[in-house]
Amino acid sequence: MKKLLLSFFLLSTTYGISQTLLSPSDFLGYELGSEFTRHHQVVDYYKYLAENASDRIKLVEYGKTNERRPLIVAYVSTPENIAALESIRLEHLKNTTGQGSPTKAIVWLSYNVHGNESVSTEASMQTIYELLTSKSSYMENTVVIMDPCINPDGRDRYVNWYNQFKNTPNNIDPNSKEHHEGWLNGRSNHYMFDLNRDWAWLTQVESQQRIKVFNQWLPHVHVDFHEQGVNNPYYFAPAAEPFHEVVTDFQRDFQITIGKNHAKYFDANGWFYFTKEVFDLLYPSYGDTYPTYNGGIGMTYEQGGSGRAGLGVRTFIGDTLTLHDRIAHHLTTGLSTVEVASKNTEKLNREFKKFYQNKNFKYKSYVLNGDPDKIDAIAALLNSHEIKYGWAKEGTAKGHLYSSGKLGTLKTTPANLVVSTNQVKGTLAQVLMEPNTKLSDSLTYDITAWSLPYAYGLEAIASQSLVESDPSGAGSLNRLREPTLAWTPMLI
Ligand SMILES: [Zn+2]
Repeated sequence: MKKLLLSFFLLSTTYGISQTLLSPSDFLGYELGSEFTRHHQVVDYYKYLAENASDRIKLVEYGKTNERRPLIVAYVSTPENIAALESIRLEHLKNTTGQGSPTKAIVWLSYNVHGNESVSTEASMQTIYELLTSKSSYMENTVVIMDPCINPDGRDRYVNWYNQFKNTPNNIDPNSKEHHEGWLNGRSNHYMFDLNRDWAWLTQVESQQRIKVFNQWLPHVHVDFHEQGVNNPYYFAPAAEPFHEVVTDFQRDFQITIGKNHAKYFDANGWFYFTKEVFDLLYPSYGDTYPTYNGGIGMTYEQGGSGRAGLGVRTFIGDTLTLHDRIAHHLTTGLSTVEVASKNTEKLNREFKKFYQNKNFKYKSYVLNGDPDKIDAIAALLNSHEIKYGWAKEGTAKGHLYSSGKLGTLKTTPANLVVSTNQVKGTLAQVLMEPNTKLSDSLTYDITAWSLPYAYGLEAIASQSLVESDPSGAGSLNRLREPTLAWTPMLI
């Protein structure tokens, strides 16, 4: 305590009060990386920062997990930007309709979506501390949104397990029990659902609550922090093929810009890394692709470690990989990401606007028909993504029939839901609805078929012309709940 008081005095007289924020190690009472921090302690640290740097942090609890742990985001920037946070947000969103003149970069850093990839939340604490102290210059034209733990239930499951089984001191032998987490492990949430497959489908409470905040911001850059196997080096952008064809040249190029900046720091430290392998940009329900289809630069960063590494583990080349090392790497890429964004504010805003101005889609409208409950379910999902839709008029629609894969014409009625790509969320609508996704490579990390009309068991047509619709039509949720007649395709 004496040491603490002395340093408080020295710092407050030398640098002013803002420099007296406690680091994570000082706040937690142990050196960061020497223990795993339970979620409530992480929340306490964020609260401490928000109370003691209230002009530079705004902390928001956006929901709770199934096990009632709080879900939080912290907005970090300069006092001027935090005071103007709402007008910065509105100006940024105006850019999606070609209006407004935003000047700030919006960077969102998401940690620990996989609970047992346990370094991320630890790294988030050091990262926010550095953004408030040594790297505060990045904040002049940047708002950083930090979610220290997307999956608190899974992470605490891992941390509690590790604390129960670890040796003292910890054992780096990979055969030790402390490196063999059993079933049920901490990767997934309370219901054992992988939250990094849920960005598009929103089946879990964590995703459902987070998407509301995400849609309020639509960040220029989003990073999803992960961990891979113990023996792998670090992975960062640029991503591997296949890229979805809607990914723009700028989105590809900026991944390279960010990757090169990371490489500079990794090279200087002699840290191993790789790029352009394994982690592609296709399936839309990830923390990298979903933000990408919303106009951002979405990226996955993968440290080697995961639920196997514990506080330290011997790798197959005989090195010892420690939690300290893992924190240093995620800290470096997190700060480097903010640095690059802060230096490219103008370009990020210009390209973000261009992304949303593009309406050059092959299919202009998707028309859906079928069971009213299924139509209601898909309408609710579209609402969550802020994808607009309407209800068809009596008439016909011509296009690609999902049931046959051939061109055809269908009679439309006001019970048919119509999604047009001629809207702000046009790119996301295309990715979720298109009948066939173009694969640029024969290999991909995950599934290649997710088209919503098929997933919801609906009949559908993808039309290359705009199908007229009424947003408040008779098919809306308060419509008479009568079963609709099956469509009879008229092949042409
Ligand atoms: Zn992961």
